[in-house]
Amino acid sequence: MPAPELAHWVDQAILAKGGELHNPEHAHLVDADMAFLWAPAAFGKAGRTVLGQAEQVMFRAGGWQKARQEQQMIEWFGCVPEFLITLAADYCATCSDAEFCALVEHELYHVGQRTDEFGAPAFDKLGRPKLRIVGHDVEEFVGVVARYGPSVDVQRLVAAAGAAPAVPRLNIARACGCCLKVA
Ligand SMILES: [Zn+2]
Repeated sequence: MPAPELAHWVDQAILAKGGELHNPEHAHLVDADMAFLWAPAAFGKAGRTVLGQAEQVMFRAGGWQKARQEQQMIEWFGCVPEFLITLAADYCATCSDAEFCALVEHELYHVGQRTDEFGAPAFDKLGRPKLRIVGHDVEEFVGVVARYGPSVDVQRLVAAAGAAPAVPRLNIARACGCCLKVA
């Protein structure tokens, strides 16, 4: 089911300057054509459990199939969004607040800004950031690192893992209306 409340929360807490969990690395997502969806449950794929997914909305169909899929989007969101983030509701209902925020930001990081031929951030004619789906910073097997040592990318990940989390737990509590009531 559509999750407009999640889109609103992401805007307020993460994208907006002054949000409790504001992350300037997502600046290109302010005013992005992005919608959120709850899936009832996680699913298994290639031996992993998929908890969230970010995608550029594309219809790999034509004719009535495409029209039907477009119609579904319009009924959910009032339009066909350019990007769609889907989260597993069963996981989100039981995970910790920090795990939830990490999942949301993980999916946000998948929606990156295109770069031009010189490697600078790309914008369209109206000055809006050009967006695309980007892969993970690091994809590696534990066994390869154990046998051959960390690559440069893995070293960056290790350095980040060794530093204290940049988001204080208190800010997560503040960013959640429920936690505020209890605190
Ligand atoms: Zn991912």
